[in-house]
Amino acid sequence: EPELTGDFATLMGWADQVRRLKVRANAETPLDAKTARQFGAEGIGLCRTEHMFFDDTRIAAVREMILADDEAGRRTALAKIAPFQKADFVELFTIMEGLPVTIRLLDPPLHEFLPHTEEDVQAVAVATGLDAAKLLRRAKELHETNPMLGHRGCRLGVSYPEIYEMQVRAILEAACEIAKSGKAAPVPEIMHPLVAKGEEMKYLRDLTDRVAKAVLAEQGVDLKYTVGTMIELPRAALRAGDLAANAEFFSFGTNDLTQTTFGISRDDAGKFLGAYIDKGIFEKDPFVSLDQDGVGDLIRIAAERGRAARPDVKLGICGEHGGDPASISFCEKVGLDYVSCSPYRVPIARLAAAQAALAGK
Ligand code: PEP
Ligand code: MG
Repeated sequence: EPELTGDFATLMGWADQVRRLKVRANAETPLDAKTARQFGAEGIGLCRTEHMFFDDTRIAAVREMILADDEAGRRTALAKIAPFQKADFVELFTIMEGLPVTIRLLDPPLHEFLPHTEEDVQAVAVATGLDAAKLLRRAKELHETNPMLGHRGCRLGVSYPEIYEMQVRAILEAACEIAKSGKAAPVPEIMHPLVAKGEEMKYLRDLTDRVAKAVLAEQGVDLKYTVGTMIELPRAALRAGDLAANAEFFSFGTNDLTQTTFGISRDDAGKFLGAYIDKGIFEKDPFVSLDQDGVGDLIRIAAERGRAARPDVKLGICGEHGGDPASISFCEKVGLDYVSCSPYRVPIARLAAAQAALAGK
């Protein structure tokens, strides 16, 4: 069991006394959440929900949903996933004991949940009773040339609102269950991925509020929740004022923001990055340490425009850079409210946040 003890715990205590930035963790499993808390995380800054869809108990229903011919069919399949999804959130909220939990709605393109090779298709068909020909056809239909720029993120929520409705309902129902049990009431922060446009944010905000309001009325519980967005596209950063009209918080998704600002695939950068670093064109791997000139400019612009539209907009970072000391120092300078990183990087982030605060004095 990871735990901070002795001199290390004392040092961390000193760091906590001087740092201004809050430190959260990216966590989606109970184990991640427990580890995060043992390392001193002050909340979950990013709970990616896609991993929950891959779970053995629900992947069959997820595939059934993707194969459905119409909305009614998708809703039938989603109803099978809903109780599991609610249980996921009850578990996380319980572990986090009232600390903030940012839950990001489904992000990856749907074809990622389907088998692609003939062999895998056959295996899935046998295991689930789903039609092999239909599985193969749907996988082909959903194929995209540039999936990272494709039908993913909130674009799924716009084309298939029933998916996000199920998730929002599960989040609120879970939060109500905890609140009713007398435990510390969670404050869910519902986060939409890959948003770029004010109208998109408005559509998602309306969807979220409509479902949340219905659940709170059904449950007879008065519970606070917030709605926000990832900032992971240059357009989102530039139009942050439009987004802030309907978003109470921004979380900088610097993995995608680096990818889209540089126009370099985050998955394939390794193929040529070495040459760029050797030749001094890149000082460091921009996917590890924030590109403070380019991506950093966009973060500054987004913070400024977001705050102009909504002075109390909460600002955080949840890309890999949130656990990198040099990037954390930049986050301090821009005045973000928190950084969120992998649970095992939380102690480093606490120290780096303290160093950044001292350097600014
Ligand atoms: C990001 O893009 O920085 C992010 C945190 O989301 P993901 O890594 O899941 O795309
Ligand atoms: Mg992303």
